[in-house]
Amino acid sequence: MSQLKVPKGTRDILGREIHLWRRIEETVYSVAQLFGYQEIRTPIFESTELFARGVGEGTDIVQKEMYTFLDKGGRSLTLRPEGTAPVMRAYLEQGFAVHEPRVKWFYLGPMFRYERPQAGRMRQFHQFGFEAIGFESPACDAEIILIAWTIYEELGLKRLSLEINSLGCNHCKPGYIEALKNFFRDRSEELCSNCKDRLERNPLRILDCKVETCQTVLRSTAFPNLQDFLCEDCKKHQAELLQTLTALGIPFVINPHLVRGLDYYTRTAFEVKTGELGAQDAVGGGGRYDNLSQALGGQRVPGVGFAAGMERIVLLLQKEETETSSERSGVYLAPLGKEGERYLLVLSRVLLQHGIPFYTDFADKTLKYHLKRAQKMGIRWVVILGEEEIQKSVFLLKDMISGEQISLSQEGLLKKLQEEISGAENTYLR
Ligand code: AMP
Repeated sequence: MSQLKVPKGTRDILGREIHLWRRIEETVYSVAQLFGYQEIRTPIFESTELFARGVGEGTDIVQKEMYTFLDKGGRSLTLRPEGTAPVMRAYLEQGFAVHEPRVKWFYLGPMFRYERPQAGRMRQFHQFGFEAIGFESPACDAEIILIAWTIYEELGLKRLSLEINSLGCNHCKPGYIEALKNFFRDRSEELCSNCKDRLERNPLRILDCKVETCQTVLRSTAFPNLQDFLCEDCKKHQAELLQTLTALGIPFVINPHLVRGLDYYTRTAFEVKTGELGAQDAVGGGGRYDNLSQALGGQRVPGVGFAAGMERIVLLLQKEETETSSERSGVYLAPLGKEGERYLLVLSRVLLQHGIPFYTDFADKTLKYHLKRAQKMGIRWVVILGEEEIQKSVFLLKDMISGEQISLSQEGLLKKLQEEISGAENTYLR
């Protein structure tokens, strides 16, 4: 039988990489707490209609990228391709619009898009995201950007740039889309086949097409600039946001081509890019979605948020990671024989009570095997328990660095381990 493999575009996350995921998650949780954002966990699958209405029928995500299936009851369901539409669904469904119209939420978890997999582009990928719903003020857009920036800074990511655009509102966006259609219609022969298709369906998406012929069209001097079409209110909103970012010391550039893939964005759209990952250079993005709630059948509710791709952040952290410290804190418990296993498991409860991390190997092997294994795991302290030790009610503690071995009572062992191993560095039990 052939070896089973993970589905294309998915992967196992394990080994040394795990601590990077933990670091990101912990940073997200602590920054969320500092800014007063509450966690929300929505289902992994939702009704297909939610994304058709909330992300937009004309978008690439809905047209080509969704994992949609019928369940046994004949309902059309979709594995969530993004987090904002589910969050807004929850807000409306739980009646927040009435009893608590302003909420600040964050989420973290897997998303699914049927895309062409490559480094930093997966079919199952992970995002964390922050959403502030019910807030109209551009200061809230700035807070969302500040949160993203704080998390990236906290993680030590370098060479990041923030690009900003305004997509206008219901008043000015239609005028721009009309101007775009007119501009592209005259040049449709030069567009790639994808963009020819987008021309009527979703012309804004042509703006971030990477195909060279489309790029040439976009560079034309006659290309209509979104910024020129903004109404007075949208211009004011953008100006206030940019002033606040300047006051916060967050550098930005205006990119009039920045549109983002989802339909529901109004006004602010932004993306954070890295210079380190080649083509998949966006590590996060977001914007204002004042039309989303109505698209889902609710009353008008303003909102602003962002989502960041965790795979790409992990790739960046891996690049920066040095191989210096592979030492694991804690103690390796090496039983020699079945009786030793039982005694050490009893000892492990005492270690637990004292917050001392441990690893017990139940391989029923020789001492040589255990010492090799402890060395490979980078664990300095090994407790050896063989027949002789059990008879004398002692534990043999070996220091893998000096090679010294001492025989200790349980109390003596605990005292020594407490001195040597700090509970705070506990890598096993967090
Ligand atoms: P989006 O929801 O498309 O605005 O994406 C937000 C962020 O999620 C992007 O900036 C990427 O960092 C990340 N992302 C989006 N799609 C993928 C994917 N297929 N694989 C990995 N990361 C992704």
